[in-house]
Amino acid sequence: MIHCRHESCGAAEKVWLPYEFDGRSKGLKPHPYCIHCGAVKNISPDRAKPLGYYVNELAKKPITKVQMRLIIKELEALGFDDAYSMTMSAQEKVFISVLKKYCKI
Ligand SMILES: [Zn+2]
Repeated sequence: MIHCRHESCGAAEKVWLPYEFDGRSKGLKPHPYCIHCGAVKNISPDRAKPLGYYVNELAKKPITKVQMRLIIKELEALGFDDAYSMTMSAQEKVFISVLKKYCKI
């Protein structure tokens, strides 16, 4: 699976979409979208963290190097640190499910 390297559209082309903050609707806000794949960028404060952050988290867990490598490989294949379509809360759910798949934590 090849992931898009995302490039935002110009300010004039932004799309007005519902914006939520703390689970509450805050009306419409202009969102940039990717000119290649059309993914709308997540502009909420619930931002995806880079993969490196989760690699550091993994390093603190009692798992083997092989398990760690398998987990990272799977996360990469899922487009885990895609800042456009992932939120931090979505990342945490994916991270835990992949962790459970490879380890008995
Ligand atoms: Zn894209």
